Amino acid sequence: MKAAVFYHPDFADKGYITLMHRVKPGFNSLKDMIKNGQLYLIEPEINAESYQWLQATHSARLIEGVKASGMHEVALLSASGVIEAAVKLSQGELDFAFCFVGTAGHHAGHNYCWGFCYYNDVVMAVKKLQSIGTEKIMIIDVDPHSGDGTRDLIARNPNIIHINFFADEDYAYSDQVLNNYGILLDNADDKKFLAALDTMLLRKWDFEFLFVIFGHDSHCLDYGDFYLTTAAYQSLAKKIKIFADGRPVLFVLSGGSNPQVAIEAIPAVIKEFV
Ligand SMILES: [Zn+2]
Repeated sequence: MKAAVFYHPDFADKGYITLMHRVKPGFNSLKDMIKNGQLYLIEPEINAESYQWLQATHSARLIEGVKASGMHEVALLSASGVIEAAVKLSQGELDFAFCFVGTAGHHAGHNYCWGFCYYNDVVMAVKKLQSIGTEKIMIIDVDPHSGDGTRDLIARNPNIIHINFFADEDYAYSDQVLNNYGILLDNADDKKFLAALDTMLLRKWDFEFLFVIFGHDSHCLDYGDFYLTTAAYQSLAKKIKIFADGRPVLFVLSGGSNPQVAIEAIPAVIKEFV
């Protein structure tokens, strides 16, 4: 298995205040895997592609607003890593990747963003993938907050399967014809979450590439309204690996602020793929 982690020190130094303090500890927890060659380390950079997919995804008005907030560079750097990882996976250079970020993406729609999110990293990468012939894409969002921005951006494309687990009933929806699955899990513990995941993974899906939006704010010691333990993340990774069955898997970091959770949850996931 060729596995890589995408990381830039700016994610820890200049990321969104709530999210940034878990980044460096989370990354340091992977040092052994990097040192012994199980995990490649790739440092992303902003390039012409970054701007192309930013403009293809978000309005000029939103981009101006993000620039004014001071978060533009770190948000674009975060998305650039996700785009680069997606390309390397689709070309077979990698089988698995985990992207650190300084900001999150799933609450960023075409003309709005909220909740520590600025640019929709995953949708920018989806657009890039579709431009190079990877059309059928699955996104599993296990951050306990609803990925409303992602849904709004891809909802009308049935080639993109969006399975969105969340805790807030105000966001309940489902539109199976267009492959949008909003799955409300109130106060989910490991058992409830993994049972819901199994139900979805057992169905027959047609996809070439899998994203997992990985928010460890779903941990019982973090701030979201799921109450998982690290064992659930290990099970999640095991199930995803079997489910993907050799197709590329890209985990993208999302919510989460507790460094202690990050140093357990992130290596627990990655170890299953190296
Ligand atoms: Zn979240």
